[in-house]
Parts: sequence; structure tokens; C-alpha cells
Amino acid sequence: MKTGLVTFYHIHHYGACLQALATERAVEALGHECEILDYYVNQDNALFRRPTGPAALAADAHTTLHYQALKRRQQRFDDFQARELRLTAHRYRSFEELKSASLPYDVYLSGSDQIWNPTIFPDHRFDPVFFSAFTAGRKIAYAPSFGVPRIPDGMEDELRSYLAPFSHIAVRETQGQTILRELTGQTVPVVLDPTLLLRREDWSAIAQDPGLSGGYILCYCISRPDALVPYIETLARETGLPVVQLCGIRRPVVPGARLVLDAGPAEFLGLFRGASFVCTNSFHGTVFSVQFGKPFFTAAAPSERKAPELSRTYSLLSRLGLESRIIGKGDSARTQDPIDWDAVQERLERARRDSLAYLRCALENQPYQPEEGGKPPVPQLAERSRCTGCGACAAVCPRDAIVMRRDREGFDVPVVDHEKCIQCGRCSAACPILHPRTPDGVLPAAYAAWVKDDAVRLASTSGGVFTALAEDTLRSGGVVFGAAFDDALHLRHTAAFRAEDLAKFRGAKYVQSDLGSTFREIREVLKTRPVLFSGTPCQVDGLYRFLGSRPENLTTCDLVCHGVPSPGVWESFVADQAQRKRKAIASVRFRAKTEGWQKSYLTLRYEDGSQDSAPLYETEYGRAFGRSLFLRESCFRCPYSSLSRVGDLTLGDFWGLRPEELAEQQEKGVSLLLINTPHGSHVFDRLSIGCKQYPAERAVAGNPRLASPTAYCPERAAFFAAYALEPFSQVRKKFLTLPPYLVRAASQALTPELKARVKKLLRR
Ligand SMILES: Cc1cc2nc3c(=O)[nH]c(=O)nc-3n(C[C@H](O)[C@H](O)[C@H](O)COP(=O)(O)OP(=O)(O)OC[C@H]3O[C@@H](n4cnc5c(N)ncnc54)[C@H](O)[C@@H]3O)c2cc1C
Repeated sequence: MKTGLVTFYHIHHYGACLQALATERAVEALGHECEILDYYVNQDNALFRRPTGPAALAADAHTTLHYQALKRRQQRFDDFQARELRLTAHRYRSFEELKSASLPYDVYLSGSDQIWNPTIFPDHRFDPVFFSAFTAGRKIAYAPSFGVPRIPDGMEDELRSYLAPFSHIAVRETQGQTILRELTGQTVPVVLDPTLLLRREDWSAIAQDPGLSGGYILCYCISRPDALVPYIETLARETGLPVVQLCGIRRPVVPGARLVLDAGPAEFLGLFRGASFVCTNSFHGTVFSVQFGKPFFTAAAPSERKAPELSRTYSLLSRLGLESRIIGKGDSARTQDPIDWDAVQERLERARRDSLAYLRCALENQPYQPEEGGKPPVPQLAERSRCTGCGACAAVCPRDAIVMRRDREGFDVPVVDHEKCIQCGRCSAACPILHPRTPDGVLPAAYAAWVKDDAVRLASTSGGVFTALAEDTLRSGGVVFGAAFDDALHLRHTAAFRAEDLAKFRGAKYVQSDLGSTFREIREVLKTRPVLFSGTPCQVDGLYRFLGSRPENLTTCDLVCHGVPSPGVWESFVADQAQRKRKAIASVRFRAKTEGWQKSYLTLRYEDGSQDSAPLYETEYGRAFGRSLFLRESCFRCPYSSLSRVGDLTLGDFWGLRPEELAEQQEKGVSLLLINTPHGSHVFDRLSIGCKQYPAERAVAGNPRLASPTAYCPERAAFFAAYALEPFSQVRKKFLTLPPYLVRAASQALTPELKARVKKLLRR
């Protein structure tokens, strides 16, 4: 079979060039001829950039300084392509030229890379060449990528028409699979990146020795390396090996790194083959670490961090059982943790067999039957980065086969004991993330509200309405469950049976609380008494999924929530603070009303009666909380950040009141109270509190967490990488130290848009 391959190959990117070569060789290894159509657009390999701004000028200055090395790299790419790739004798420069050409192929193969990503072409439209639309011949696809989470609006019909003539399509990522399922209703296979179709010995035969004697830690970064730095530094310290940096980004990732600027594709392979360790944030850097069996760590690109499970790196590594090599996840490996390469090779070989079987069927126009992939793993729980830690799965398990355990980020996550698991599926059924609620579309009634008892109000975060709800429950013989610190300042949900016990619940604590056995206790209490449960919306939803119903004698109150910080980080902070001060912390208030409600103070009281107190957002912990530095990963995609609330009632701060509105109440604190259900309305009618109704939109205007989740913090991955490896005192110094006063003042004065522009300018 004569195969014409359309793919990216020309651009001087290691991955693009090597994937084209791999596809060509894989087709040939299956007994068919393969030729790459020499066609490219928009792929400029010029050493100097067009002068578009300070960034381009700086890059050009660097190029001038290192001209010889970069010129050598360019030449090596050109030589490699001429030597290794089987290109058509003629270079085609347009769709029309290809259309009028008389081409000799039996089948046209749309290859890998982002050839189906419309946004990378100059006119932001699909390039029909990469769908082989220039010919009426048979068309197949192996591992193209859309490179975007969804197809831009209005381009669906065009894409459908391009895809219709294909006899076989398999894509590179699950993201592409989802796009095609939504577009065509069909589920296409996901296959390996072509670079994994060849084996180690195939790549080794092409690799050029880089001429570096002795071992080294190879760094290959194509985006911000911040999350990798703690790993590189720790590995260098532990092994004494030098750091060799393959560019990629040209700024040294750690001081003293030896830069390699002149590697062509063969030298690239040689550098991976010779490395002792690899740290990378490139997908193909990850691939070649696996290919050459090197201990490696990889970090998600900044653009992938919000949804790492959708990335191709995660998709590949989870398939190979290597997901712990991804940095900045709660289960990331430590530097010296070994890799079971035999198991990896076995999984890779199976995946390779599958992908080659698809390619053979596609080339030979046979139907493709994927190998039996086995049943999905039981039990099925929410993907790690989406799991809120509500613990419903653990609480509902009849065999206690799931326990909540601290991960490396200091959050509690469900861990399954497969020996004990009887595969009843109750845990999956109880997971609120796997079974999201359907919003009822009814707007809640919104109130500014406050309790009349000034002492209670002073001890509370906003207007103290939680206490009014709790006292109402206690009056009717019920039990109140809320979050309170224990003596070791570990935040736990616990019960209160008397009004005197409510003080421990008052005040927001900016750390995720440990629910322990609360859900089971509530189920027991509900058999005889009413219950009020207050917590974050994910906890409230978890409780309902655990119970499987909304019992009439249960009242729930969820909080408007910015996001929950790591309990592990909080406890490290407490221990470090105690060590610095040489005295233990006895109690904490995050939102003390020292200067009224609007300017909260973080107050740490020590065992000897002394205290430290400062405006919350001018303290190390408070500022980091405000920046979302150590929030749970799921918070950045929180499904509860809207007016569609899960609890009967919602409490928050009524931010956004104008100075003249409720002027006399603002000093002492005003709660935002949302009434979400008829039961909530019933409870509200019984309360004796001060209140004033507002349109729900007013509540949202002052409180962005009622409209969307907190924005992802760019430093988060680097913070947790350091947290996993370094002493907390060092992490604190690096990440929590307050910037100079002027910077903080400017940061408060600037709008988010202006801040983004300043950051962009500084990065350039
Ligand atoms: C992590 C966190 C983030 C928040 N983010 C926002 C926000 O962005 N915008 C906003 O308007 N309000 C937010 N709140 C809610 C707000 O701070 C007050 O809790 C709310 O206004 C209720 O105040 P109150 O005066 O009625 O009662 P309070 O006396 O302050 O009542 C506190 C209640 O909250 C519960 N609670 C305290 N800490 C936790 C915790 N860590 N986990 C679960 N339950 C807890 C207690 O059990 C108690 O029931 C947040 C609260 C927390 C805990």
C-alpha cells in the first residue's frame, strides 16, 4: 500500500520532527510504503524573530550572543530531515497545488501533532490539506490532535464535512475523542503518540552521543519550570550530578546549569539516552524518558494545570502506571522513589500492540476491534484533581474499605483497600462529583442579616446568623454539627448539644475541616432528633449523597466559599510558628473584628497569654490564602460556585454594601443569608434576627464566589513541589514572605486587568 502522510515535520521542534519520522517508520514496519508530503505553512524556522516587542528583542539579542550554536542546531535539523525523512521530491506550497497534482498514493494518512487545531493557522481556520481534502482517495487518521478543549463556534459543520470521507479515525488524546463524540456521536479510539510506536532500540540507532562524560540530570523545559525547580535542586544535592539543560527555554532553570543550545533531533535523543535523571515539562521529553527507561519527573504545562487529567501527559502516564511522576499532584513520587520499569514496559507493549493493530487495520481498510480493555477499575471514584475530599465514599462503604488519608499536599483523599473491597459500587453512587446535581434554576431569596446579641456577633465572622440557626436547632431538641479546632489546632467537624458548646464553631477557619465519622453520626442522630449541619457546599452535598435523601428533620447550611486550604500546610504553619516564637499557639481567629467587620485581623493567641494580631491579608498565611496558593485543586473547578445552592440556607459575608446602606450594621458585621429551599424558608421564618431583603444579583455583585470558582494560582504547583521536598521553614521563606510594603500597596491599588498587564510586561 502506498501511503501519503500529511503531518507537521518541518518546524524545528524535536517532538514534531520525531513524531513524523516515527509515523513513517511504523507504516513501513507494517509492510507498506510511506512518503511524507512536503507541505508546510506558517512554520518559520528563522533564527531571528520579527521585532514585535521587548520579548522578541530580548530573544534576538540572546540569539546574537549564541548565534554559532543556534545556527548549528538549525543545520542539524535540516540535515536530520534530509537524512531520515522520506519526503516527496516536490515541495507543495498550497492546497490548490496539491489538488491539481497527480499523486500516486493508495491511502492518505493524516498523522499526528496538532494538525487539526484551527487556532494555530494564520487565518484561524482548519487547513484542509491536513484532512487530505485535496484528493478523492481513501483517507485515514492516526493520532491527530485538536489541541483545544472545544471546536470554535460555527466551525462544526466544516469539520463534519472534512471528517465524513475518512474510513478510519483514531486520535491522540481523550480530549479529541470527546470532541468527536459530541460532533459525530461516534467514539473513536485513542492511540499512542507515534513516537511510542517505535522501541528503545529504534531510537537508539538514530541517537547521537552528546559527548558528555559521566551522569547528569537532564532538564528539558518548554514552559515555566517553577514546579520542577525543587526537584532539580533536590536531585542535584542528593546525587552530586551536574545539571544539563536542553533548550527549550533558554534561561537557566537553576544556577550553574550547563546549557545545550545546539542539539538537533539526533543529539536530543542522545541526551535522553545518556541522562541519569530527567526533569521536563514537555510531553515528548516525558515520552523519551520512558523510552530510554530514565527516572524522570514531569510537570503539567501552566495551561494544563487547571484540568491536568485532560492533558496528554496525564493520559499517557496513567495508562503506564506512572502518574506519580507528575509533579505537583498529591501523590507525586519523591526524588529517589524507584520505578518498576518491567511493569511499565509490559503496559507500554500492550498499548503499542493496540495502536499498531489500529494502524494496520486503517492502512488495509479492515474493521478495527480494540483489544478487550477490561472493566473500568472498581471502585470508580472522582478523578483526583476533582475530588473535594467530602468523604462520602469512605462513610458509605459497608466494609470500611476506603479510608481518608493525607496526601503529599496535606489534603485528605480516599484510599481504597482492594483486599477489603467487595465491589458493591456504593462509593461510586455516593460521589457528588460523579453524580452532579441538576440546578433547579430557582433564584434564592437573599437577605442582609445579623443577630441581635452583640457579643455573639463580635465573636462571629459576619452577622453571626449561624448561631441563630444553631440555637433554633438546639431549642427544638436537635444537635448541631460544625467545624471546630481541637487542642492541637486540627480542624474537625464535631457535634454541639448545648448553647454553651456553640462558641467553638463561631468564626470561619481558613483550612479544610476533617469530617471524620460525622456523616455516620448524623445518620444515627437523625433517627431520633433534628440536626443542623453547617459546612462548605461540597461537604453538604457529600452528606446528602451519603444519606441518599433529604430527611425532613435535617437542616443544612452551606457557606459561600473562596476555597479550602490544605490542613497539612496549616498544621506545618502552626508548628513552624510555634518553633519560631518558642511557645505553642493556644487559639486562632482568622476574622477578628479588631477594626470592625471590613478589615479582618488574624489573631494568634499563645499559651502564655500573649498574642500576635495583624490585618489578615497582611499576614503570610492570610495573604497566601487570598492568592489561593494552597487551596485544594478541586476548588479551582468548584461546581458549587453559583446561586444554585445545595444547602437549605447559605451563609456568607454581605460584601458590596454601599457605605450608606445599613450603615449602623456594617461596623459589627452583616451576613449574607440565602434561602434556597422551602424547608430553609420555614427555618428562616422562626429566626429572630435583623434583616433586609435584596435582589439576589446584589449578593453576587459583592461576592464573586457566587458566580464562578476562584482563579487558579500560577505558583501553586511550585509551592506544593517545594512543600513535598523541603523543610517548611524554607518553603515559608520562599513562598509566604510578604513582599515590600510598596509592592503590596500597589497590588491593592491595581485592578486585576492592570496586574495581569504588569506581570506580562515583567515576564518579557
Ligand atoms: C474556607 C472558607 C472560605 C470562605 N469564603 C467565603 C467567601 O469567599 N465569601 C463569603 O462571603 N464568605 C466566605 N466564607 C464564609 C464566611 O467567612 C462566614 O463563615 C459566613 O459569613 C458565616 O458567618 P456567620 O457570622 O454567620 O457565622 P460564623 O460564626 O462565622 O459561623 C461559622 C460557621 O462556619 C463553619 N465553618 C467555619 N470554618 C469552616 C470550615 N473550614 N469548614 C467548614 N465549615 C466551617 C462553622 O462550623 C460554623 O458553622 C468562607 C468560609 C470558609 C470556612
